Amino acid sequence: MSDVVHIGLGSNLGDRVAAIFEALERLDDCEGVSVVRVSTLLESEPVDVVDQPCFVNAVASVRTVLRPEAFLAMLLQVEEAMGRDRGGVVPRGPRSIDLDILLWGDERVETADLTVPHPRLHERAFVLVPLVEIAETLTHPVLNESMANLLTQEIACNGPVDLRCRMLARGSLQDESGFHGPRMEEDA
Ligand code: AMP
Repeated sequence: MSDVVHIGLGSNLGDRVAAIFEALERLDDCEGVSVVRVSTLLESEPVDVVDQPCFVNAVASVRTVLRPEAFLAMLLQVEEAMGRDRGGVVPRGPRSIDLDILLWGDERVETADLTVPHPRLHERAFVLVPLVEIAETLTHPVLNESMANLLTQEIACNGPVDLRCRMLARGSLQDESGFHGPRMEEDA
């Protein structure tokens, strides 16, 4: 039996778009993990630590037979393999790749190392915009609100989303030749 998991991907160092696609390839290559759908890529203003480069963000839906703790360990391995440096860096500062578990079906997970749904999911347009795109019908299992309602509430708090997030490249479905590089709007 496999579960559907939604993950958030972000990068604000180096070739950010390439990092997102490399992470997706690496995840899809992991045993028991299959990337099903990738959202549009967004360029977003940094939050929390605002004095850092803009991020490229995306959300992917993934099928997996792994349980949450093993899946998290696998995400951390991919981050490490891609050169994520955790030594002496500013928390929530610049990073080559960041992978978060946003939703695990309608399950709640609360362990020492893991909180799902991700505790800041509903506060972040760069997560909610792509979630509305690829998982509009999903309901947040703790807040009992649809992703669309959560985005409406986030916009009411923080203002128009187009001032904070810019559409960069369409997401792509995987085919037999792997993930395609980003398809820019004008190519579509
Ligand atoms: P960061 O890479 O800065 O986002 O932090 C990663 C750490 O946050 C992981 O080592 C986890 O122990 C912890 N964590 C807690 N909840 C989550 C989640 N839903 N997704 C990813 N990491 C999480």
